[in-house]
Amino acid sequence: MEGSWGHQKHDHGDRGRGDVNILFATSNPHKIEEVEAILAPHGIKVGSLSDLESIPPEPVEDADTFEGNARLKAIGYARATGRRCLADDSGLEVDALNGAPGVHSARYSGVDGDRAVRDAANNQLLLSELEPVPEHLRTARFVCAMCVADPDGTIVAESRGHFEGLITTRARGQNGFGYDPLLWLPEDGCTSAELPPLEKNRRSHRGSATRLLLENLS
Ligand code: IMP
Repeated sequence: MEGSWGHQKHDHGDRGRGDVNILFATSNPHKIEEVEAILAPHGIKVGSLSDLESIPPEPVEDADTFEGNARLKAIGYARATGRRCLADDSGLEVDALNGAPGVHSARYSGVDGDRAVRDAANNQLLLSELEPVPEHLRTARFVCAMCVADPDGTIVAESRGHFEGLITTRARGQNGFGYDPLLWLPEDGCTSAELPPLEKNRRSHRGSATRLLLENLS
């Protein structure tokens, strides 16, 4: 793994200069915490975009698969920063909708606004599209694809994680974000938004993808 951290703005304890092995191409602190908690015990120190003096422009995510988007983000940021980079792409796949919203999960309804407004509009649209669909055909999953790339464009490791459930008929729960209030977990008798956050992190698509990535990295 690489050692120095030339673009780093400050030393942040564990993320001090010279310690960081991988730059996680996200500014989402929840994602960083979740991934760091899994990788750090294995000696992999994770930096984030927020640690950089200047954040490179975000590559356009125009691939039609989660893997494609994770790859183009990892390679784009690795080239722009000169660092080994990790990127992820995630979303919801609903079987009765042939995999939609898929890579369009974040902006499925087309409604603009902050995250809460977009999430509410996406959830409403999904519920109305699935209205005629019986419970046993409402199978769905959160998917997370991860990719690690080097500055020369080499893909070092890839992984995919799933979190399976059924789409409910009404939103339930306050935790999480996005489609969490709609993913019913039959064995738990609650939605993903009703799971305690630590429990969701332990079982989530992102957690599974990170653990698999760890295996693939070594
Ligand atoms: P991104 O990978 O953070 O861009 O996520 C894309 C979109 O997928 C989000 O805006 C959410 O709508 C959805 N999504 C991804 N992961 C989750 C999750 O853990 N819970 C709920 N929705 C999610």
